[in-house]
Amino acid sequence: MSSSQEPNEKLVLQNYHRDLIAGSHILHYHNVVDAFGHLSVRHPFNPKTFLMSRNAAPGTISSPSDLVEYYIEDARPVDPNAPAGFLERCIHSECYKRYPSINSVIHSHSESVVPYTFSGVSLRACYHMAGFLGTSVPIWDIADAQKPDDISDLLVRNTHLGGSLAGSFAGSPDTPEHVVMLMRGHGFTVLAGSIQDCVMRAIYTQKNAAIQTTALITRAADPTATGGPVKYLSKKEVEDTTWSIRQSAHRPWGLWLREVEACGLYSNSA
Ligand SMILES: [Zn+2]
Repeated sequence: MSSSQEPNEKLVLQNYHRDLIAGSHILHYHNVVDAFGHLSVRHPFNPKTFLMSRNAAPGTISSPSDLVEYYIEDARPVDPNAPAGFLERCIHSECYKRYPSINSVIHSHSESVVPYTFSGVSLRACYHMAGFLGTSVPIWDIADAQKPDDISDLLVRNTHLGGSLAGSFAGSPDTPEHVVMLMRGHGFTVLAGSIQDCVMRAIYTQKNAAIQTTALITRAADPTATGGPVKYLSKKEVEDTTWSIRQSAHRPWGLWLREVEACGLYSNSA
């Protein structure tokens, strides 16, 4: 590393810290996470590690001292004296390991989404903001991956469970077939190339689930409805809306930042 690079790298890392903390606040503000759930980002200068917060409610983290660097290989902290981390950080490490193109991961227990993980009703892209969901959103069932010694608490406690979850996104290392994976009786995990895109996908996954639920309740309330079958986005529509929304992807991040800065609950000193 040349000395001229060092100030730039320090500035970039500072931006990553700030966005990781802000993204955690945004996810809390939008009820995608509560005291549980987490956001991470691949380290910008060390592809073998990633950054996520210590074991704390995402809405309460506030400075780089709340962030921990982990090895992707086994989710071990780079600093052996780092503060305690999240139990489920193998979700993140195994997704980074399998998909080098993925730079940010979110895991959520969203109450709007969880019903679609175990009810037999499939989550489907039902409006233009959620084309990234594709034409189907698969469900990963942890019971299919558990070994006899694993604790059956539905949590992704180790690398082999995290590896199974990561593998279920399918596709190639450059392009996962899916970017959202439902987790039976638990929540969902979302992948993206940046913190901003990952937060956007997590929020709009939750919004799509809430809209779909409202639509299904509305329809069930009138069994005589004659408007035809529930109509979800077609393959062409999910492709074109995904492209279209990407043209405006910067817009919500600026709004969401202002929301968390103005509401008085959150602090970000990074
Ligand atoms: Zn979880």
